[in-house]
Amino acid sequence: MGLISLDEAGGRSAACAEPVPGVLELPLVEADGRVLAEAVVAPIDLPPFANSAVDGYAVRHADLLPGAETRLPLLGRTAAGDPAGTLGHGAWRVFTGAPVPDGADLVVMQEDVSLSGDEVILPSPAKRGANLRRAGEDVARGQEVLPAGRRLRPRDLGLLAALGLERVRVRHRPRVALFSTGDELTEPGQRLRPAAIYDANRAMLRALLARAGADVVDLGILRDEPAELERHLRAAAGACDLVVTSGGVSVGETDHVKAALSACGSLDLWRVAIKPGKPIAIGEAAGTPFIGLPGNPVAVFVGFVFVARPLLARLAGTVDEAPIVFPVTAGFQHRKKPGRREFLRASLERRDDGAVIARRHPGEGAGSLASLAQSDGLLVLAEELEQLEEGSSVPFLPYVGLLG
Ligand code: AMP
Ligand code: MG
Repeated sequence: MGLISLDEAGGRSAACAEPVPGVLELPLVEADGRVLAEAVVAPIDLPPFANSAVDGYAVRHADLLPGAETRLPLLGRTAAGDPAGTLGHGAWRVFTGAPVPDGADLVVMQEDVSLSGDEVILPSPAKRGANLRRAGEDVARGQEVLPAGRRLRPRDLGLLAALGLERVRVRHRPRVALFSTGDELTEPGQRLRPAAIYDANRAMLRALLARAGADVVDLGILRDEPAELERHLRAAAGACDLVVTSGGVSVGETDHVKAALSACGSLDLWRVAIKPGKPIAIGEAAGTPFIGLPGNPVAVFVGFVFVARPLLARLAGTVDEAPIVFPVTAGFQHRKKPGRREFLRASLERRDDGAVIARRHPGEGAGSLASLAQSDGLLVLAEELEQLEEGSSVPFLPYVGLLG
């Protein structure tokens, strides 16, 4: 049981599953976050017709005097939604989004124009095509606009609607069975017994899974009892595409998830070179992929982001988007052991000189939920680093980029 790097763990977990089969057609209003089953090809040009990008006057470039003002008669007027006119020698009033009259190849902004009776006084011309949106300049009919496997975002839905598409073909969501393990765990809302704690991981994981595009089947809390665990694991595996648990996978005597899984499937215990987070159990229960996350909530979050998410993306038929990381300035110093990647919870502060400073949350431990909830993201300390100096540059991974 060697130590494996975080990057290797993510890649290996994704390789543990195949995309779930099946395709369904959904109206756009229900498609946010769903994964496209096939590429979308534009059925029309965007924009569908040449139109004005400004409120102004459409003209023929050739009718304007270079380097001087030109007076032209006003020939007509077109607002958005009106049919296009036909331009002769003159200027044509157009508004933003209105079809430019046939023959026009330039729109002059109204701010640059003055009126004198029925005449329009235009400045020396800008280049041909200015302030004019050509048909198909954004998207040409027949062009692939979104690839198969794309997770649809609000921006994509806007594009699909602009193309006149009312429905899209998307993949089925993976069904994910979720449970917590531990004799100490109590359901929120119930009385807390002595020596008990409330189950925090399930609430967090349910929401993380849902945001990652899973249909969550919540199976509650299971006791540290191998036979009971095995029974539930088997039942969950039969009905779902992935089983996710937290707790019970370290090397303590009461860590029975390992034993239960060995009885109904197989298990690899990965000692992932991260802090917090290791170990993470990966395997299969009765033929269904299985991820056993650690018990400590911060380790659960980190394990979810870097190990469970790639596998979920694969099941969903999409590719995991690499989290966005950007450099910030460390507002503190920190010693760490080399050989594993360490994640510190931090918040960002902007200094008067514009520098973005990371302040570390005082909550140290892998069990500190406050440190997760009260920070903006994770500082990523590279494997080889031993000493982070105050004022040095350090990569920061914001939670918003993780949808978490
Ligand atoms: P374990 O891996 O089961 O030994 O758990 C490690 C630590 O995480 C222990 O302090 C557990 O009480 C805690 N823990 C396990 N599961 C949960 C949970 N669902 N919510 C909050 N803390 C938990
Ligand atoms: Mg436990």
